[in-house]
This record gives sequence, C-alpha cells and structure tokens, in this order.
Amino acid sequence: MHCPFCSASDTKVVDSRLVAEGQQIRRRRECSACQERFTTYETAELLMPRLIKADGSRQPFDEDKLRAGIQRSLEKRPVSVEDFEACINLIKHRLRATGEREVPSRQVGEATMAELRKLDEVAYVRFASVYRSFQDINEFREEIERLNDEADRTEKDA
Ligand SMILES: [Zn+2]
Repeated sequence: MHCPFCSASDTKVVDSRLVAEGQQIRRRRECSACQERFTTYETAELLMPRLIKADGSRQPFDEDKLRAGIQRSLEKRPVSVEDFEACINLIKHRLRATGEREVPSRQVGEATMAELRKLDEVAYVRFASVYRSFQDINEFREEIERLNDEADRTEKDA
C-alpha cells in the first residue's frame, strides 16, 4: 500500500497483531522512502444488504432496531443471551445469504419470524402480532395515499 505521507509505493509491515477480540488486524507500516510510520486496520467485510421500503426508498440495515424488537418479544422469556445473539446472527446470515445488495424490508421481518419461531414460540407470536399489525397499518396508509393521488388526478383532469 502507498505511503500516505509521500505516496511512495514501497511500505513494509513492521508489526502485526490481532485486536478487537480477533475481529481485526492492526498493522504498523513503515515507508521505505520517508521512513514515516502509519497504522492500518483490516476487518472482514460482511456487508448487510440495504433495505427497500414499501414506498421504494432505501435505508441501511439497522441492527439496533432489530435487537430492540426481538428483545421486546423476549421479555421475561427463558432465553439466554447466547441464544439471543445466535438468533441475531442467524437473521443477519439469512439476509446476507440472499446475495443481494438490496432486499425488501419485509424480508427482515420474515427472517426474524422464521428464527424466533425456532427460538421461542411465545416470542414468535408476540413479534408476529406486532409486525403484522404494523404491516396492516402500512398497507392501510398506502391505500389512503393511493386514493388521495387518484382524487388529485381526477381533480386536475376535471
Ligand atoms: Zn513515505
């Protein structure tokens, strides 16, 4: 990699170690031309697909939101932190496994329901009921918007 100070192409690694519990490699590098030292970090790139919302807009996958939703469903349920973390990972894996850079946002809800169903029936029912009513509200709102648009068009045509 090129030196960030003088742009020489010849830099060498003088130290390399695992950091962030092995999730990252920290490398100290030294430029052979100007002898300046700099640090690089290397992490595996596990990109989550972006989400396509019902209105067509895109938004980044939000892990905090996913965690909060699942935690609510798991309230007072006998599920360990390990199983909870594994569930989150399985959901993320499902989304990445699509191989798509963008997926409809409802796929997050569907993946979550599929994994929760295996984890805890009660949590699954709780999540599904909240999720489905939320979807109904969205569909209802979309229908209202569609009717409004049609009304607008009819007015303009008249
Ligand atoms: Zn240099």
